[in-house]
Amino acid sequence: MTELATPPAEQEQEIARISHWIGGRSVAGSSGRSGPVYDPAMGRQTGAVDFASVEEVDRAVRTARDAFPAWRATSLSKRSEILFRMRQLFYERREDIARMLTAEHGKVFSDALGEVARGLEVIEFACGIPTLLKGDYSEQASTGVDVYSIRQPVGVVAGITPFNFPAMVPMWMFAPALACGNTFVLKPSEKDPSASLLIAELLQEVGIPDGVFNVVHGDKLAVDALLDHPDVDAISFVGSTPIARYIYERGSQAGKRVQALAGAKNHMVVLPDADIEMAADAAVSAGYGSAGERCMAISVVVAVGDAADPLVDAIKERLPKIKVGNGFEPDVEMGPLITREHRDKVASFIDKGREAGATIVAGGREQEVDGDGFFLAPSLLDNVTPQMEVYLEEIFGPVLGVTRVETYDEALRLVNENSYGNGTAIFTRDGGVARQFQFDVQAGMVGINVPIPVPVAYYSFGGWKDSLFGDTHIYGPEGINFYTRGKVVTSRWPDPATSKVDLGFPQTR
Ligand code: NAD
Repeated sequence: MTELATPPAEQEQEIARISHWIGGRSVAGSSGRSGPVYDPAMGRQTGAVDFASVEEVDRAVRTARDAFPAWRATSLSKRSEILFRMRQLFYERREDIARMLTAEHGKVFSDALGEVARGLEVIEFACGIPTLLKGDYSEQASTGVDVYSIRQPVGVVAGITPFNFPAMVPMWMFAPALACGNTFVLKPSEKDPSASLLIAELLQEVGIPDGVFNVVHGDKLAVDALLDHPDVDAISFVGSTPIARYIYERGSQAGKRVQALAGAKNHMVVLPDADIEMAADAAVSAGYGSAGERCMAISVVVAVGDAADPLVDAIKERLPKIKVGNGFEPDVEMGPLITREHRDKVASFIDKGREAGATIVAGGREQEVDGDGFFLAPSLLDNVTPQMEVYLEEIFGPVLGVTRVETYDEALRLVNENSYGNGTAIFTRDGGVARQFQFDVQAGMVGINVPIPVPVAYYSFGGWKDSLFGDTHIYGPEGINFYTRGKVVTSRWPDPATSKVDLGFPQTR
């Protein structure tokens, strides 16, 4: 992780300082460490984000711990009233949030608005918290004995989030976590941290009490401090597979409940009977949308039999029409990658593919866009085989590989043998085959003629295999379970007839 020395004097005015948010106010970092934040479309540094020390993380966690008793005691109707206000204010300020996403992440503005909209759906779901927390009740489980269940918040939740959805992924976490009565410490990605501070201000405005929602910025040091802190009860993580595995192991060892959603290599199977034009549109939007920096992006198109030639032609034909550039320009469809290093790493996969024998159908490094932004042309590689690095690794950029197979069985085997199991899709007109695919395939989210099957907010989101560590998916009903602990009460009351005080009960009933 790059450390920023004091910015040069001539840049000082242009570089915004991005601080923590603890106890309901902005708190400047005191560790002396920070990281650069870029406008990736211009390729220049715009901010410096403070990196928290262990002590600063401790202060945020203690603040959240202190705020917990009052927040968990706040009535369900009050919490739900705040959530309704949250939904309304986030909706009203959606363009302000989206502008921050485009400025620091680079995704096009319409896509940034889409990100906020998907996050809002999770807040809407959380508005129903009085219903979601209803328990069960069994009267007369034994004579005079009743049994009932309740769900209670776990305490302090830490959310550690990736760069690619700087608003939506935190919303996946804090909306249900706060609704359930927990307090929260967010450690956003250090690459695009500003949206988290606007979120903190909006939460304060809608009535979330100070200390209930806090933000600490930083790198591994801050994350480790959260993982080890005895007052953090649960960790929600979304990010790459190696880090997810690490978070899961270290957090679990410290006795916390952990859900760690990880990387992906999503396959889209196209059968010969598919609507090829529809499949090509889907492959293009799911492969190159947000410059391929989505965990649900399609990375491999598995073309079965005769589907391959027309499909590759149809995708190729569409690529020159994708306008690449600054996401604030209205007709631009694909923005830059997050950093120069990431852009170069993604580009190196194209070279490796070429060297390993894949056919470069379109793209490569060249992309003419004014300025020094981190752009890369949408690239299409045909004849990618399962042994190639470009097939095996998560690329996380605008690079789509086509792997040709002869049969449905071969296609299915490819998906199932892949170490990742986040999302997958099948394109076919045959309902029976689609149903069989849904039955056989080893992935957490399946699309049938839908390339990016992100579950709606009242289902839960999560992958299988190396795409998830832990057993609970995020948001939806599983999110409510993750952020609460179950308690079952078995109760017996003395027979009122035996009371020493005359209550007017008959002796026998
Ligand atoms: P990342 O794993 O590099 O970073 C995620 C978070 O972990 C950040 O907050 C970062 O500061 C922190 N982190 C990074 N290195 C660390 C270390 N060594 N020790 C402790 N903490 C560390 O991921 P990213 O590059 O920000 O995001 C892209 C990745 O996230 C991709 O792999 C993508 O597939 C994945 N992702 C998964 C999902 C999902 O739901 N499964 C959703 C979005 C993104």
